[in-house]
Amino acid sequence: MTSPLKIGVDIDGVLVDTDNIAYLNYCETVLGWNIDYPEFKRSHSWPASTGKTAVDMAVAFRGFLSTSEHSQKPVSGACDFLLKISRKADIFLITARKDTLKDITEEFVNNYLSEISNVTLSMDNHENKTPRLLEYELDYFIDDSITEISKIIEADNLKTQIIPFPTFHIQSDWSKIKNNKNIIWLDVWNHVNDNLDKKQKEAVQKKAWEEISQRICF
Ligand SMILES: [Mg+2]
Repeated sequence: MTSPLKIGVDIDGVLVDTDNIAYLNYCETVLGWNIDYPEFKRSHSWPASTGKTAVDMAVAFRGFLSTSEHSQKPVSGACDFLLKISRKADIFLITARKDTLKDITEEFVNNYLSEISNVTLSMDNHENKTPRLLEYELDYFIDDSITEISKIIEADNLKTQIIPFPTFHIQSDWSKIKNNKNIIWLDVWNHVNDNLDKKQKEAVQKKAWEEISQRICF
């Protein structure tokens, strides 16, 4: 019997419908922080765009998620398709969320992914997610951040196939990494544009998950 595939999945923006801009707005209006939105657009980095430490950001993120409006909700289609994928593959959740957010992250896993038994949670990958990809020898890794993906594809002898997940909370210029040999572009990217309404965006993300499951499972 061949060993199962290994699939790595980022959490925020891929599994949990986390609105980065709403979070930064929360930091600005509720906590009184100065936010550099152009810097966030450039780097997709919370500390760089707020001048705060990762520890400060984790405390603020907990506060943000505790508001009813922004509590953790799954990305459309994510849980159903991940369950389907888990029948063919072991699942590794690889997040930059700090360990101090372990309880609320486990709460999401328990609430929405309880039917998946073969799931490993790896937290606090702030500096770089690449060591985890190499350590787990992942076949695929799904992430919505161009910053993370750009760092990962620099690794020597990378065997993992990287799947960029469509994101709408920030506009990223993916052109620089468009032709990288490790990247799989989903067909659904042809439908990503600036003019989609909420329902259409959700449909794109659900379609992305469906496409990922088709590619991995068949
Ligand atoms: Mg993300």
